[in-house]
Amino acid sequence: MSATLRFLGAAGTVTGSRHLLESGASRLLMDCGLFQGLKELRLRNWARFPVPAPSIQAVLLSHAHIDHSGFLPRLGKEGFTGPIYCTRGTADLLKIMLPDAAHLQEEEAEFANRHHTSKHDPALPLFTADDAARVLRLVRPVGFNGSFSPSAGVTARFLNSGHIVGAGLIEVRIDGRVVVFSGDLGRYGVPIMRDPDPVPAADVLLVESTYGNRLHPADDHHDKLASAVARAAVQRGWLLIPAFAVGRSQEILYDLRELEDAGRIPSLPIYLDSPMAIQATAIYAGHPEEHDEDLARVEASGARPFGPKGLRISRTVEDSKRLNDTDGPGIIIAGSGMATGGRILHHFLRRLPEPQTTVLFVGYQAAGTRGRLLKDGARALKMFGQDVPVRATIMVSDSYSAHADQAEIMRWLGGFTQPPGATYIVHGEPDAASALQALIAARPGWRVEVARDGQLVSLG
Ligand SMILES: [Zn+2]
Repeated sequence: MSATLRFLGAAGTVTGSRHLLESGASRLLMDCGLFQGLKELRLRNWARFPVPAPSIQAVLLSHAHIDHSGFLPRLGKEGFTGPIYCTRGTADLLKIMLPDAAHLQEEEAEFANRHHTSKHDPALPLFTADDAARVLRLVRPVGFNGSFSPSAGVTARFLNSGHIVGAGLIEVRIDGRVVVFSGDLGRYGVPIMRDPDPVPAADVLLVESTYGNRLHPADDHHDKLASAVARAAVQRGWLLIPAFAVGRSQEILYDLRELEDAGRIPSLPIYLDSPMAIQATAIYAGHPEEHDEDLARVEASGARPFGPKGLRISRTVEDSKRLNDTDGPGIIIAGSGMATGGRILHHFLRRLPEPQTTVLFVGYQAAGTRGRLLKDGARALKMFGQDVPVRATIMVSDSYSAHADQAEIMRWLGGFTQPPGATYIVHGEPDAASALQALIAARPGWRVEVARDGQLVSLG
């Protein structure tokens, strides 16, 4: 029997990335992501894995984002003990991201027990910090481009996908067929990360479609950031930037340093107020093999790429709380990126009522989050049981993204010297996936369909 591929997640949706490759005695899993978002999706995390976990020989992991890696502790709990192959950058990020994910699961269970919101008594976490620690011991970092063998007769390698540090495209040679999985594709010509590597050939291609129906707005993030900093300086107030710890916080630090170097902003105290962002910044700085030319040039000049002049590290909760009694002007970068939790909340509580405060959103704000409410013009927010008036000025920068948009996905597909035998669209909401499908199908010779959840495909 020839090799097969089965889509076990991120089919018709953007989370729960899991694709099973099988041939003879080989059973390999590409990505092992957590389902996130809507309750019906999150419930799928509790279902037993569709094949027995001990029967999976190895996991090949495209990158560390939780929707690609966050099911690993649970897979370990179900008996998986094989190697987890990923790049070195991904291995470093997993060390901070999986324990953090476990911590959130434990908190959620504890909350349910305290408030009796679960029909299970006691409510248990999906996985614990111990589960995360156990599965981290299975991680086997490999270099980009280096070939390795995850099971007998199968070889694989990671190419650079340019999405976040460590992020790879996966190329697998199995049963004489070449399977390529795009992972999450990054962007072209952005700072820090390199452009995605082109891939010339594949028998079967899996391509992500997060922004398959959209184009990113023209890049004006330097202007937005500069005017937000200028306002804070003039008002002698605080600029609060809610940001994801991995990726976005580093982009903001990098851009602040660039603007300082260009003399476009005054040098204000900048507090990186997130233990995870502090660690992630060290990981970004510690992987020069992934840096693009611009970043390499900054490093060669002796400057610290992620170190604007006024950068201060706010490691402990006490460090963070001290800022409540510190006068502006200054900048605080803190999580969470959508203000659903984390240290940004106590800064909001303290500073949103002050008219001299500026808030700059630098990422996607999902419906129902405090970030979205503020972005949409809310003049008061409910936080910690209080009604907090919003007198701060709210600014939005929409051009930051770690994902290729429709044109960039098509540009990457242009790297194939001939159409893959078959192309499957994964990791997109239905509208995004079908828009991308229509665009690809219009190219001569491309056979393309949107992957269906549970669909089994022969690689024959
Ligand atoms: Zn990702």
